[in-house]
Amino acid sequence: MFRFREILTRDAERLAFDEKKKAGDLRRRLDLHDEAKAKLESDLDDKVAACAHLDTYQPLIDDTPQCPRCWIWRARQEPMVDHGRQDQNLFKCHECGYFALSCLEEARHR
Ligand SMILES: [Zn+2]
Repeated sequence: MFRFREILTRDAERLAFDEKKKAGDLRRRLDLHDEAKAKLESDLDDKVAACAHLDTYQPLIDDTPQCPRCWIWRARQEPMVDHGRQDQNLFKCHECGYFALSCLEEARHR
């Protein structure tokens, strides 16, 4: 019976070791989950703040078009420069590369 007790004890130790290993894996997964959650919350805060920038966006300042992307993403006023030809007006932001075509009627009135 003494030997059987040792066998059962070793089985219990092996089972406990396996469970300890699984617990370690779960702790690591939870840590990764916490890091991912924190990143998602930070990204969410950035997106909510970006949405709020729309209220104060000024498409033109002193007749100079302002980049919507730079304003929405970073709340920065960046002028867009005209790179168009006679038949079209292509405005481009040198900061982020955003571009937009103005309407021909608008271009004629400028
Ligand atoms: Zn821009």
